[in-house]
Amino acid sequence: ATTPGRTPHEAATHCPYCALQCGMLLSERDGRIEVLPRDFPTNRGGLCQKGWTAAELLDHPERLTTPLLRGPDGRLAPATWAEAYARIVTGIRDTQAAHGRDAVAIFGGGGLTNEKAYALGRFARVALRTRMIDYNGRFCMSSAAAAGMRAFGIDRGLPFPLADLGRADTLLLVGANPAETMPPLARYLTEQRERGGRLIVVDPRVTATARLADLHLQPLPGTDLAVANALLHVALTEGWVDREYVAARTEGFDAVRRIAAGWWPARAERLSGVPVADLEEAARALGTARTAIILTARGAEQHAKGVDTVSAFVNLALALGLPGRPGSGYGCLTGQGNGQGGREHGQKADQLPGYRRIDDPAAREHVAAVWGVHPDELPGPGVSAYELLDLLGTPTGPKTLLVFGSNPVVSAPRAARVERRLRDLDLLVVADFLLSETAAIADVVLPTAQWAEEDGTMTNLEGRVLRRRALREPPPGIRTDLRILADLSAALNAPSAPAAEVVAGDPSYPFLPSRGPLQPPDAPADADPRVVFAELRRASAGGAADYAGVTWERIDAADGVFWPCPDTDGPDTPRLFAERFATPSGRARFHPVEHRPAAEEVCAEYPFYLTTGRVLAQYQSGTQTRRVGALRRAAPEPFVELHPDLAARLGVEEGEELRVTSRRGEMRAPARITATIRPDTLFAPFHWGGAGRVNSVTNDALDPVSRMPEFKVCAVRVEKVTP
Ligand code: SF4
Repeated sequence: ATTPGRTPHEAATHCPYCALQCGMLLSERDGRIEVLPRDFPTNRGGLCQKGWTAAELLDHPERLTTPLLRGPDGRLAPATWAEAYARIVTGIRDTQAAHGRDAVAIFGGGGLTNEKAYALGRFARVALRTRMIDYNGRFCMSSAAAAGMRAFGIDRGLPFPLADLGRADTLLLVGANPAETMPPLARYLTEQRERGGRLIVVDPRVTATARLADLHLQPLPGTDLAVANALLHVALTEGWVDREYVAARTEGFDAVRRIAAGWWPARAERLSGVPVADLEEAARALGTARTAIILTARGAEQHAKGVDTVSAFVNLALALGLPGRPGSGYGCLTGQGNGQGGREHGQKADQLPGYRRIDDPAAREHVAAVWGVHPDELPGPGVSAYELLDLLGTPTGPKTLLVFGSNPVVSAPRAARVERRLRDLDLLVVADFLLSETAAIADVVLPTAQWAEEDGTMTNLEGRVLRRRALREPPPGIRTDLRILADLSAALNAPSAPAAEVVAGDPSYPFLPSRGPLQPPDAPADADPRVVFAELRRASAGGAADYAGVTWERIDAADGVFWPCPDTDGPDTPRLFAERFATPSGRARFHPVEHRPAAEEVCAEYPFYLTTGRVLAQYQSGTQTRRVGALRRAAPEPFVELHPDLAARLGVEEGEELRVTSRRGEMRAPARITATIRPDTLFAPFHWGGAGRVNSVTNDALDPVSRMPEFKVCAVRVEKVTP
């Protein structure tokens, strides 16, 4: 059988990496798999180096091909699936019998398909009945998600299609470096400038994106919020606030106006280092533009005040009357491949599918009915990702952890302590297709299928639901994450979801009950991504992220479907907020926010700021991209960026090894001397483990609302390592 977009030797699918989800065509010829870009609205025929080389991992020699069990000698050794499952099921039962249900925890990922994110949440709440589930998206997008929810009543990264960027008269990017992290998106920036638009970038570093800008504001790390309030101050004094819009479509402006009134540009300059003239020029470009878009990303979010920082830019956008106006708006550039969908379907500690709150009785009733359980059986909210990791192995914390699609040994803040916590567990299970740093310390490792070997859906940074299409079956001995979850549910005698039976008899699911061509005949029904997606649609119906009207056929017939899409016969929603916001009053809500210092300021002992981020040729914790030849050659090792003035003071030459130390730990990496960074700040990418792991140093201070760690600023000292 073939499905749309797939022939026996070709599959029209999307890149496995970031949230741009570039369209690509996979083809298999003479046993080799080739990647070609295809024309899709997000990438318009472009791919970055990571996308071009994505297929190299499919037959990589380091790929896991069999389950691994840690033996009495302390080594991981090959095992059968039955042996691996037996160890996991026994471990789960023993742990829960001795310590209660919450002693077993789940850690998910923002790269998992919608179906997997959904199935993981259901597995935790129904099969394990544990509160303890969260995911690595908490480290990425949670601050913008929280700020979006409190301002607009809904959290969709971009509430408009990406193409709008190319048409904005003024574009303000805050803590975003898409020219390096999402290179095909830079086409929109080029288009915008070719049409005469102004591009303004706020970033402590002169990034590849900042080099494209007409105006670059280079604030001290942790002072973006003050910059936003100063921009609003100028807009107020110059009369650029859209008073009609503020009166008709928003609420709560007065409190915000009072705070902004105190942020004279000179005050913001003293704090942030951004010159008054630049603040005034940026405010003018935004305030007098016919259309303007403000975008934030990790640079604004990954702070202990990330939600408030994003809110400050949302306040600015609302005061200028941008959200909901054609060609204008506020948006967040989501990072991980399914960063958007990954936070909608229930793998967050406080959520049920459809972006429902887990403590909302009506939401619990709805989802419990879909899952075939009583609402009282559903556990309540758990704790956030870092808090969960930091509880592991402690007297009151989980004793068993199952990790899917994540590598917290590299990606979590204060990573050395997180690694110790993971090692203290009674049982650590990791499902992955490569031996990540986290898998390497696990008791059980389960080898999983890769993106080109399974069907499913992803939701990109625009809220556009896409089809991931398999090119081939997984190699023998390898199982999909969905199959693993279905097998474990059955082994635990968990009430199986009624999905397969329900959707088989439901005419609104015309593609069922035929089995997917890539599902082995002995696989349980809910290992089939189409069955899971059908159930996800029912579970999300009526929620904020409503997928009820999204079908795979509908996605196939267009370039994806934008949620919310409640009816199969009704329209989807490429643009939000044209008429009303998703708040009870229909008005957007201002939130008064004040600058506060970073959780850790520099001092005599730790006199420099450290900030972290990504490089073009690597992705997230590097488990995949560090193993791709071309990417490894392009970005072979970690490094520490420092300014030439600082290098001279330290007597450091290019490439000499540096030790960077914070109150939490140290890292070592070669020096990269560049004038693109402030003299008081260091930068290191977070793609590496071992001695070059920058997250050994980063701060685990959390935002009080989103529980996002403060990856973007901490106080360090730096010294040359003398041989
Ligand atoms: Fe893949 Fe993102 Fe690169 Fe596109 S920009 S090819 S989605 S990594």
